Amino acid sequence: MKRLIRVLAILCAMAFCFCALAEDATNGDTLYQVALLQSLVQGYYDGIVTVEELSRHGDTGIGTFEGVNGEMIVLDGTVYQAVADGSIAIPSEEETVPFSNVTFFDVDETRALSGVADMAALQEAMNGVVNELGANCFYMVKLEGTFDAIKVRSEYKQEKPYRALDVALAEDQTEFDYEDVRGTVVGLYCPDYMGGLNTPGWHFHFINEDRTRGGHVLQISIKEAEAAFDMTDGFEMALSRDAAFQEMELAKNVDEAIHKAETATMEADSDAPDVNDSFWISEITDDIFERIQGKSFKDDCTLPREDLRYLHVLHVDLNGETHEGEMIVNYHIAEDVLDILRQLYEANYPIEKIRLVDEYGADDELSMEDNNSSAFNFRFISHTTRVSKHGLGLAVDINTLYNPYTKIVDGERIVEPITGEPYLDREADFPYKIDHEDLCFKLFAEHGFEWGGDWEDRKDYQHFEIPTALIDEWYPSNQ
Ligand SMILES: [Zn+2]
Ligand SMILES: [Zn+2]
Repeated sequence: MKRLIRVLAILCAMAFCFCALAEDATNGDTLYQVALLQSLVQGYYDGIVTVEELSRHGDTGIGTFEGVNGEMIVLDGTVYQAVADGSIAIPSEEETVPFSNVTFFDVDETRALSGVADMAALQEAMNGVVNELGANCFYMVKLEGTFDAIKVRSEYKQEKPYRALDVALAEDQTEFDYEDVRGTVVGLYCPDYMGGLNTPGWHFHFINEDRTRGGHVLQISIKEAEAAFDMTDGFEMALSRDAAFQEMELAKNVDEAIHKAETATMEADSDAPDVNDSFWISEITDDIFERIQGKSFKDDCTLPREDLRYLHVLHVDLNGETHEGEMIVNYHIAEDVLDILRQLYEANYPIEKIRLVDEYGADDELSMEDNNSSAFNFRFISHTTRVSKHGLGLAVDINTLYNPYTKIVDGERIVEPITGEPYLDREADFPYKIDHEDLCFKLFAEHGFEWGGDWEDRKDYQHFEIPTALIDEWYPSNQ
């Protein structure tokens, strides 16, 4: 039941009405960024520009202050500081800033939102608009309205020597829950390619209507809000000449630390979101369809879109870190696959990545080389008009790099992915290996799937599929 409510809430959230195209989206404007999120996350908390300087580059935005002394919200030209007790201060103009993004806000697009159940639903709704307008620009967003519930955090000012941000927050983060509150959320969207300089996707800060409470948004449920989007096609960055800044290794991958710093709450076991809220099935909504059209859902796709389902899941990697996953499968097996992935998650079974193959341009080889687990990718069986099992969404591949496909053709060994060759030795010990003792094998077998590792003429250790006899019943014209 919970899952159904969740799906309905998302459908509601996406049913926003188109309001107005208030201003020409081609108005050039610039996102001004102080330093990198990467430098902040690694513990560079020294101010680089003053509040006064920052204000010259924008009237709307988010950020923090020297020593991560609270969360910054810039709104209508005023810089607000949500300090550790959750209250709002107005910083002096000489206060300095180690990280921030601001722009001069002009409204390019507005949408009405209602019944947005949670953060994931909000991001999905926001992404829908961004994908429509163009996902490779920046967006500053203002969401003004009434929030059923909102959880924000701030933090105590840090003293030198500074610790990394996730470590500092684990100790010094403070959290506040507000219910039925009016106010404004300022959000920043960065495109995918910004991974080295900021964080791709969304980052939200909140301030209430009378400007007395606020912070970095951890959880949200929107009753009603108007979302105004400022599409931003310029970028400017201010860096520090300071020796300590120059010595930082800024290309180091700190994605995990960023994720933790931005989303972790103080509650015990907070890294693990509510399992039932996180495993759900939806139809292929327009937003999802946009992501797969012309990629896994090829132009000649003969499988009706209505036969596919989108799965949202959690999975843990080898380090025990939880990640969100997405998979598209046939509706006949949606409940089964969701159940299998939920049981694997609850058993801490490591799956490195569960992403749509569309993120790899629907290129199986690239997806497999990245050890990605996925299912639907439309194609005909070579030289036939029959659709393959992956093309029907009736086969699932798990931990693909470590469980390659192999066959001897004309005396030559084919391996897919090509980088999976070291894992052809199934007697060897290595992570993610699927065999008959493996929980993943057992769960798929229990749910009626066949395993490609049991085939004689070829081996496909990553692959679980519905038996042909059953598929012939479901799709009699595909024989
Ligand atoms: Zn923040
Ligand atoms: Zn497969």
